[in-house]
Amino acid sequence: MLTIKCSKCKNKLFKYEKVGSGRVLRCWKNKITRAYNIKVVEDKLFCAECDNLIGRIDDKKVDMISEAFTYTGTKTTK
Ligand SMILES: [Zn+2]
Repeated sequence: MLTIKCSKCKNKLFKYEKVGSGRVLRCWKNKITRAYNIKVVEDKLFCAECDNLIGRIDDKKVDMISEAFTYTGTKTTK
C-alpha cells in the first residue's frame, strides 16, 4: 500500500494499492482505499492544504502529475 502525499506541503492525500513495480502515473479509483485531505473541482484533484494540482480525474482513474506528489510505502507484487 502506498501513501500518496503532496510534494509541496507533504499533506497526506490518499492511500493507493499499487500493483506492480512500475511508476505511479495513474491511479485507478477502485484501488484508492482511503482518501485523506483532497479537494475535487470539476475533473481536477487538488491538495486541500495548498491547492497544488495533483491530477486529472476521468471515469475510472486519476492521471497523476508526476512532480505534484511523492509517496511512501510498498507496491504490491503479483
Ligand atoms: Zn499540498
